[in-house]
Amino acid sequence: MLTALFSLITLPYAPNALEPVISRQTIEFHYGKHLQTYVDNLNKLVVGTEFENMPLEEIVCKSQGGIFNNAGQILNHNLYFAQFSPLAADNHAPKGDLLDAINRDFGSLEAFKAEFEQKGVTLFGSGWVWLSADKDGKLVITQETNANNPITKGLKPLLTMDVWEHAYYIDYQNRRAAHLQALWQIINWEEIAQRFAK
Ligand code: MN
Repeated sequence: MLTALFSLITLPYAPNALEPVISRQTIEFHYGKHLQTYVDNLNKLVVGTEFENMPLEEIVCKSQGGIFNNAGQILNHNLYFAQFSPLAADNHAPKGDLLDAINRDFGSLEAFKAEFEQKGVTLFGSGWVWLSADKDGKLVITQETNANNPITKGLKPLLTMDVWEHAYYIDYQNRRAAHLQALWQIINWEEIAQRFAK
């Protein structure tokens, strides 16, 4: 029997735990169907290739075409789904070194959020907006189309918002800006700080 090489991540919360910002139904489709499909596709595509036993990050940096698209989407969604916590959690504001870096590189938390949302709203088509750290620890916001991830540019990805329509259409229809604005309420900044400190 063929072993599944890549598997669906486990969510660190219940499917309805992010309501009303992200509904249970969106989680069921976005995580349960879209992400599952990328995992299934990659498992079929890598058989017999040099990518079969490679970590996801390395595949994303070295592959092209269908393998890149599916591996990129798995990596992107793994980071995306792991960065949230329920509304009632007490980790929805950055602090410490990460807050200092945000203030240093964007002027203020509010200015950072405004630039991030603006880059998410103006990304034409499908893709992702990212906060990353460069090799010197400087924070940058980038727009990545389709399945791209900032690691291909030598950046360390910290936080992301998915602007593929499947991420928000059930709950927000065409209102991408309203969706992005709402997501701040469920960002787990302790998780982002751990990525920044690595
Ligand atoms: Mn998605």
